[in-house]
Amino acid sequence: MISPSPSGLFCEAGGFHIDPWRPVERAVITHAHSDHASAGSRSYLCAAPGERVLRRRLPDAHVETLPYGDTIAIGDTRVSFHPAGHILGSAQVRVEHRGDVWVVSGDYKCQPTCEPFETVRCRTFITEATFALPIYTWDPAAGVVDEILEWWRLNRAAGRPSVVFCYVLGKAQRILAELRSRADGPIHLHGAMAALTDAYRESGIAMAPAERITEDMRGKALAQSLVLAPLSARGTVWMRRLPNASVSFASGLMRVRGVRRQRAFDRGFVLSDHADWMGLLSSIDATGAERVLVTHGWSDALARHLRETRGIETGTIRTAFEGEAGELSGSDDPGEPAP
Ligand SMILES: [Zn+2]
Ligand SMILES: [Zn+2]
Repeated sequence: MISPSPSGLFCEAGGFHIDPWRPVERAVITHAHSDHASAGSRSYLCAAPGERVLRRRLPDAHVETLPYGDTIAIGDTRVSFHPAGHILGSAQVRVEHRGDVWVVSGDYKCQPTCEPFETVRCRTFITEATFALPIYTWDPAAGVVDEILEWWRLNRAAGRPSVVFCYVLGKAQRILAELRSRADGPIHLHGAMAALTDAYRESGIAMAPAERITEDMRGKALAQSLVLAPLSARGTVWMRRLPNASVSFASGLMRVRGVRRQRAFDRGFVLSDHADWMGLLSSIDATGAERVLVTHGWSDALARHLRETRGIETGTIRTAFEGEAGELSGSDDPGEPAP
């Protein structure tokens, strides 16, 4: 029912693409990260809570929305969105055609700060695999936030700003939401995060107050601050305003100690908007799917594990972007809008 095409996943019976990376007639979007929502398509359909964020990302797009759980007919199919727990408005796409049900997960997470992941029963499940290795296990976010607060306190005492590098869409807002009512100092944002953070606030997400860093803000003015910035700001002139900063990275990748050392972060905070290994397996099991197609990240490892332990039919789907798996190469921030 849904198959890979040069532009992305295509549903022939419905005449639409899901998360296409080239312009198409009709794009159904799981969420607004740039590897899932690319510009140039004639129309976009997304889950209603993600509308503001998607419009920030694609200002000229024709965007239609559908509340979670509502069903619409597209071509010969019936399509609905279900919470994926990844970022604001993130959705799994359920497609039904002549009694057959497929679900495309997009990116997902089981215990999030946005609307929680919903299990959707289906025959074929297309899952992400960004962190599909047993080493990736997440601790509860509250404990990770304790670590951030403690590190920030020590830096403040030493007069050093605390920089947390993180994705501009999803992670930054998640940290701000976790810090709500817990932050005990000023929080500042890199400019690339400001508009998307506004979109979250306008969508009703409660977060700690945070001020955008302006051109003249530097040195002492930021010495007590927790600063959120995209990884791409590291090593640029922008960082000169923070000469003696302690730098950290908030990512599921920080589970691997060697990665933190190798990339010379003072601290690593294991905080992810993706399911961990156990989360992937339990979510997949709960769908009851007979066939699982795997995309993004460690797809071969997950497909092999499912075959060997569940005896179910599996396959892998390559995408043009390996998505937040870009995070795995550690080089850039796919969540950052083009300058
Ligand atoms: Zn994503
Ligand atoms: Zn992704």
